[in-house]
Amino acid sequence: MALADFITQCFSSEVEPEVDEKGVPFPRESKTNKKKFVKLSSTDTYADWGESYHTQPGKTAYPETVEGVQRSVLYAIARGFREIRQSGYGHSWSRQGPGNRAFHIAMLSKEERTSFPTKYPKTKDALKKDLRKIVNTNRTVTEGGVTYHLFDMGPSVTNHQLREHMDQIFYKGGKAFCLPVSVVMTENTLAGMVSNGCHGAGWQHKTVADYVEEITFVNPLGKLQTITRKDKEWRSAFLGYGMLGPIVNLKMRLVEMPAVNLSLEKIPVGQQIPPPRDYKMPENMRQFIKLPDEKTKAAAMAAFLKRVYKTQHYEEFVFPGQTDGYAVSYTEDGESKKAKKFPPTIDADLNAAGEVAAQLMTNSLGFKALSEKSQEALLSDFAQFALYATKKKPFVTSKIDAIHFRGDHVQDFKASDYEFEIGIPKLNPNSQAIEDNLNLEIVMELYWAQLEVYYKYNAANKHPQFLPLELRVNGGSDLTLSAQRGNAATCAIEILSLEESKLPVDQWHQYVQETIDRWKEIADKYQVPFFPHLAKQYEGRSVVHNGRRMDMLEYVREMFAPRVEEFYRDCLSIAMKGGYTLRDMEIYKNDFLRQIFPLTPELEAKLLKEVEDKRREAAANAKVVRVWRDPTQPNVPALLYPAAPTRMGNTSLHAKLGASQPAVRSIPKITVPASQSRTVQAERDLDSPAYVRFWHDPTKTDAPTLSAASSDGRMKMLILKY
Ligand SMILES: Cc1cc2nc3c(=O)[nH]c(=O)nc-3n(C[C@H](O)[C@H](O)[C@H](O)COP(=O)(O)OP(=O)(O)OC[C@H]3O[C@@H](n4cnc5c(N)ncnc54)[C@H](O)[C@@H]3O)c2cc1C
Repeated sequence: MALADFITQCFSSEVEPEVDEKGVPFPRESKTNKKKFVKLSSTDTYADWGESYHTQPGKTAYPETVEGVQRSVLYAIARGFREIRQSGYGHSWSRQGPGNRAFHIAMLSKEERTSFPTKYPKTKDALKKDLRKIVNTNRTVTEGGVTYHLFDMGPSVTNHQLREHMDQIFYKGGKAFCLPVSVVMTENTLAGMVSNGCHGAGWQHKTVADYVEEITFVNPLGKLQTITRKDKEWRSAFLGYGMLGPIVNLKMRLVEMPAVNLSLEKIPVGQQIPPPRDYKMPENMRQFIKLPDEKTKAAAMAAFLKRVYKTQHYEEFVFPGQTDGYAVSYTEDGESKKAKKFPPTIDADLNAAGEVAAQLMTNSLGFKALSEKSQEALLSDFAQFALYATKKKPFVTSKIDAIHFRGDHVQDFKASDYEFEIGIPKLNPNSQAIEDNLNLEIVMELYWAQLEVYYKYNAANKHPQFLPLELRVNGGSDLTLSAQRGNAATCAIEILSLEESKLPVDQWHQYVQETIDRWKEIADKYQVPFFPHLAKQYEGRSVVHNGRRMDMLEYVREMFAPRVEEFYRDCLSIAMKGGYTLRDMEIYKNDFLRQIFPLTPELEAKLLKEVEDKRREAAANAKVVRVWRDPTQPNVPALLYPAAPTRMGNTSLHAKLGASQPAVRSIPKITVPASQSRTVQAERDLDSPAYVRFWHDPTKTDAPTLSAASSDGRMKMLILKY
């Protein structure tokens, strides 16, 4: 047992050590309870859920309070760690977790993160915790005709807990709330979903991070810092892959929860998403998929358009080799009184059992001894069972149950997953409308291209894909580093299979590569953005871009480059507000994130110069105030200060001439326009007569005091001009 772990264990004993083996005080959970320390381990390892990588962090902290997170950061800095990375459930395949020797801040307990089958802590107890609170602020904002209710939520609230908490209110007839959109799986933390800009479905919905109102994180000085939508940096702060530091609170925009009509439809694969115009089906597919005749195609097209445009959630599943696929959609027009829990408990249990059994089955020798073809058939059937054993026709349920229609325990079946976010162009780019204005031919082409890859491999008796093709239409995003930014709508398309250790992995990689190449060609044809889902798998694969085959990481870096500059410009501003530097923020990155979002010395120098230039420009436009010594009152201190320190609007400046003249002599107002409301700074030339120059510092938003001039206390002021 490592010394640090031994010491950690000693915390429960009567005499508690206060410092670690290096003499650094252990982080406490709270100022008041001096005995409550953050649990630390120097032996716990880290692996993402899909086990695509494993690391050995230098230390792992398991804080339970906001203070605990802050003190963990300070402890890591005091111990000289050069990387601090936090994790939620660890569901991101891409290497965003803590690297080797990093300081890992685990926002969930080890048991909760790694238990199999999943063990959920009791929601009622969990929500009492500092990092899991769900508190209605009773404030609302309205945007785009939608009224959002602002909730303060802990970063470690999981979809499972939010759902249980809100459903319990909803099904008793109470007023419940939910995120406008979320991922299907329930074993995700809120901060994890926000940090990666995760999405759900429905063209009306942007990413989960687009529904943040305010974010509070622990900055590299260990202090709490908040960015709201009123701050100009919000677009970069709300989706940051954990690079700003551990998030400890998210003020989220929730909607009042409606009852929905949830529909799970079984549709022949050839009609689920109708073939694109003039489609010619390859010979090797014909015996498996029937192309619809003109009349059937027209009906299938009308049904497809209805699912895309007239529902609030739309996604498709095609299990490999199956003749029928499944469409999941809902409309927010259910009758609350008729709403029933979905999946019903018994089916949820069956579902869970199916997932666990499938997981165990793939581990069994018997399963491994099967031919790939049989494995595929078996698993495909299992997955269908797990998904659709329950409902065959539309069903009224809560919106949150419909979002998580697969219930809990989805994570009990591990998978490999390659997903791409591909822009959907408008039919009429000059129109603001999205509904009925999307060129869905691209979606049709993407779907059929993947089926073609599948049947090509099938013809060669190769079966690396064991789990479904999934396709969703969702919205764009306003956030700087979102893969969906700027899209009118986005087609999120992915292929899944077993976790890679259980696959003919070379064949799977080749299969994925062919799929990526087909999808990228289609994106290029429509001239729309093509990004991998940054939380999922893409490393090791490549992409043809501008006629050149590039490693996927190089591609991602190139595609993000212009936005990375924007991101760091905002980060610099955030850092200056918090009193630290861009370099200080680097502690929150690992090697992988440094590769994708590099802060090069040239970029840093460029951004710093921009700030300096702005400062100079502001100084050049300074308001001039003349100051001189008053020979008759040598001991009178003179002071300038704003009458009402304020960040916004007008600031009045007064001259106060010390004790013998207590009255405040008003001097004319300096108007600080709201758009430039910044700290007013003063600078004094030492020679007499001296000048005090005022200007608005564009990099500072907090103007608590005006520390102006006359530090020798023997000056008098006269305003010369503004
Ligand atoms: C089975 C499965 C289904 C999925 N379905 C979807 C889907 O439908 N749509 C979709 O978009 N994605 C989906 N994903 C991806 C998944 O939603 C993301 O990987 C998500 O980020 C996972 O959340 P997490 O709690 O596991 O976070 P982690 O994977 O642990 O962390 C993700 C990122 O968030 C950061 N982070 C975590 N907590 C904090 C914090 N408190 N402060 C600051 N940073 C933090 C981490 O440092 C990391 O950068 C799915 C994943 C799986 C395994």
